[in-house]
Amino acid sequence: MDLTYSRKHQDLQAEIRAFIKGEGHRSPSFGGGRKRPDQQRLDWQALLLQRGYIARTVPREYGGYGAEPDVLENAIIADEFSKAGISPGYLDVGALIVVPSLLELGTREQCERWVRTTLTCETIWCIGNSEPGSGSDMANAKTKAVVEGDEFVINGQKIWTSSAHFADMMFLLCRTEPEAPKHKGLSYLLLPMDSPGIEVRPLVTMTERPEFNETFLTDVRVPTDQIVMGRGDGWKVAIASLKHERVMLGDPNKQLKRFQSIRELMQETKIDGVAVIEMPEYRDRLLRLQGEVLAAKYHNMRLLTLHDQGAEPGVVGLIQKYFATTLNHRLSALAVDVLGEAGLPYDPHEVAEDDPATTWQIDYMYDIGLIIGGGTSQIQKNIISERGLGMPREPKAQVPAGRG
Ligand SMILES: Cc1cc2nc3c(=O)[nH]c(=O)nc-3n(C[C@H](O)[C@H](O)[C@H](O)COP(=O)(O)OP(=O)(O)OC[C@H]3O[C@@H](n4cnc5c(N)ncnc54)[C@H](O)[C@@H]3O)c2cc1C
Repeated sequence: MDLTYSRKHQDLQAEIRAFIKGEGHRSPSFGGGRKRPDQQRLDWQALLLQRGYIARTVPREYGGYGAEPDVLENAIIADEFSKAGISPGYLDVGALIVVPSLLELGTREQCERWVRTTLTCETIWCIGNSEPGSGSDMANAKTKAVVEGDEFVINGQKIWTSSAHFADMMFLLCRTEPEAPKHKGLSYLLLPMDSPGIEVRPLVTMTERPEFNETFLTDVRVPTDQIVMGRGDGWKVAIASLKHERVMLGDPNKQLKRFQSIRELMQETKIDGVAVIEMPEYRDRLLRLQGEVLAAKYHNMRLLTLHDQGAEPGVVGLIQKYFATTLNHRLSALAVDVLGEAGLPYDPHEVAEDDPATTWQIDYMYDIGLIIGGGTSQIQKNIISERGLGMPREPKAQVPAGRG
């Protein structure tokens, strides 16, 4: 991969710097949490879409910018936004998982109906994969969808459904072919969350904030044309959408931004009049993490190059997801240590979104969730060792006689 900036890339860099200088003050704060975007975020999203700083390669007919894939362009946009501490837009599971999955596997009608409104945040999505008893083993999903006339009738339960409490649509994994082998009996449905029969019960995470939910589905009806691909093709859709989820969770720009904030925190925080950044034990940790942050950035370019080439990312994506999510946690751990006593107290009822100390504590706790969500580290490591390194398969646990 040639990482030298051509004239075109230098021009883009200059264009973005000018944009940030002129419009950066309109940016909402970085992040955004698990809530519907407010008017400031919606306006910012519209501006970024219009300029092609998000959905750059999504076809114009679906609300994107229609540019040719170019890994360096994406890297330059992300880098400049990250350095300036400017929000890269509302990039949730809708924009980063559902949109690319529909573009890859959906029908033209499905793309026309949902891609544009997802990019503008009129349609907010949640992902309904996990169930009690089928998390890592997603193909074991038991939620049933039975065809009646021109509708599916859905019954079952989902769990850990992030954002279901305010989402408009669910990207739902369910079993439509109960007689077929496990992986061949699944389908994905595009389910409006205001359909009768859906009950969403919030669950609180370690941060003591409601982030995800239990979702109960009782006789929920959805038209049969709201299926992605065909009946029984759900595992193919799962593989594609998990690939996009890993890109989302492994995004190195989050770490670049975080690294920069920690460096500032270490410059500002003093112990006995000495800035923490001057203390060898802390500086050593910071430098090691800097190396890892840069490694994640360049590894991600390999991943994006494979995506742009239409090649399967395979274990490259799993390595990025595993490495980036564990690195995020180590970065916030350093910040909490630097804060010392200020990093300890935490009252979820008095959480100020813009208080840096509280934000680091929330990140530190929530990052553990992202090590688990989208496929746990243990599962990523198993697959990397088996498919990437050619090591023997994990032995399956023996089922005791008389059980199973
Ligand atoms: C913050 C967060 C957000 C989430 N958001 C969503 C969402 O929006 N939608 C959704 O559908 N799901 C979501 N999830 C669920 C997530 O995908 C699952 O938690 C994850 O896949 C693990 O499944 P499980 O919780 O059932 O754990 P299990 O699969 O029961 O695993 C329990 C433990 O056993 C280990 N384990 C399991 N099998 C193996 C094996 N073969 N080899 C070695 N170790 C193994 C796991 O690594 C783990 O440590 C979210 C989870 C979190 C934490």
